[in-house]
Amino acid sequence: MSTKTEVSPSEYELVSGLEIHVQLNTQTKIFSSDSAAFGAKGNAHISAVSLALPGALPKLNKEVVAKAVRMGLALNCSINQVNYFDRKNYFYADLPKGYQITQDNQPICQNGYLDVVLSNGEEKRIGINRIHLEEDAGKSMHDQADQYSFVDLNRAGVPLIEIVTEPDIRSAEEASALLTEMRKLVRHLDVSDGNMEEGSLRCDANISIRPKGSIEFGTRCEVKNLNSIRNVRRAMDFEFGRQKEVIENGGQIIQSTLNFDADQGTTSPMRSKEEANDYRYFPDPDLPPIHISDEWLAQLKFDMPALPREIARNLQRDYHMNAAEATMLAEDHELLSYFNTALETVNQPKSLVNWLTGSIRALLSEKGIGIAELGLSALQLADVINMVDDKRITQQIALQQLIPSLIGSEDTDAAAQAATLNLLITENNAELEGFADEVLAKFEAQVQAYKKGKKGVLGLFVGEVMKLAKGKADPQKINQILQEKLK
Ligand code: ADP
Ligand code: MG
Repeated sequence: MSTKTEVSPSEYELVSGLEIHVQLNTQTKIFSSDSAAFGAKGNAHISAVSLALPGALPKLNKEVVAKAVRMGLALNCSINQVNYFDRKNYFYADLPKGYQITQDNQPICQNGYLDVVLSNGEEKRIGINRIHLEEDAGKSMHDQADQYSFVDLNRAGVPLIEIVTEPDIRSAEEASALLTEMRKLVRHLDVSDGNMEEGSLRCDANISIRPKGSIEFGTRCEVKNLNSIRNVRRAMDFEFGRQKEVIENGGQIIQSTLNFDADQGTTSPMRSKEEANDYRYFPDPDLPPIHISDEWLAQLKFDMPALPREIARNLQRDYHMNAAEATMLAEDHELLSYFNTALETVNQPKSLVNWLTGSIRALLSEKGIGIAELGLSALQLADVINMVDDKRITQQIALQQLIPSLIGSEDTDAAAQAATLNLLITENNAELEGFADEVLAKFEAQVQAYKKGKKGVLGLFVGEVMKLAKGKADPQKINQILQEKLK
């Protein structure tokens, strides 16, 4: 009898590639000197170029090229030192030229990758197909008045890079890890503010499914304009379910472009007319090809800051940090530079690491601020840490009294302040001996217990002596004195 079983693919996997639009944080637009700032009054940033008045010609902003190359280098891409712009022709009210200037055939960067870390600790490499330069369109507003639509052209001509990934993403988690990493990266490289709410980072998600184990790709649908990581995840979850249902009911996925409804968490097809694009790409005759000289490319490479992963790796190696501590510092610009400044005067780097990633970090998250807003200079913190390490002040008093008294007065000398406030550990052994005698006399029963082997009560004695010393004693010293007396 044949044992051949019908394989019904009850298990599917998601396949996705993202097209990520990143708004660059240049002062001016990509082809004009109009301000590229977000949030101005409607149509405040529009010159002849943004308005596409007849005869107005584009002139490329060099800073845009530099930022795109930085991103390409960070994403391990090869840089096309000669690349050029194309016109993508379509008609819309917020596109006064009737075409968008973009790159089609020869993008500025291609063939890269980004490694992301998933929640189970595994690393996943996602291929980058290309990065191309383009200008943003203006903004149409259809909900401001009953009879009219409004058009704001402030955004027209704002520089974008579009990062296109390979279809290497296999889950909503991978997509969100990728976007999280991208956002960190654009901020770290000072390429974009990465602000998804303001649209500085937005993406289209191409989504298909296939039976697990299959090597062929299924037909994809493209969900347009997702403006938060959460919505990317929701769109993927929804599409996965929808496509699975279609296939399981014997249907076929039709390649299409979809909108995402954030209220409902659902996708729906765009009108087919909107979809039937024929962009008639051709090289823009108004703009000469971009030539990136060997010298300039070398300079751009030289100017690249170390990437967070690299920094974290070095921190782990040089200061014996664990991975979490190193990542915390590597991903927080301000914290890292604070760390570096404090390193110059702190005696034990490991103490600095412990303070910054422990108590100070806790203090910051309690206040909901970054280290720069704390009002405690790196020098002050280093002094405090040294005093604790030298046993001139206890950690507790440093944290509860000295640091709060220094916050807001960054010029105050930490040691002088500790002395003024009478917070330093008393060197007075005779006094401590007296306190120890007092405590041992008071807790006679416990002393007997200690002598019978219940060594744990020593902590009680230390605590009591510390109380009498008003916290200004070195616990180890107290320990020593007590043990001597209890012999
Ligand atoms: P087009 O030029 O038609 O937009 P591309 O081949 O450039 O098509 O792909 C666009 C995006 O779609 C890329 O991010 C790519 O990774 C992704 N993609 C391609 N094929 C699939 C598929 N079968 N499933 C999911 N995503 C896909
Ligand atoms: Mg596309």
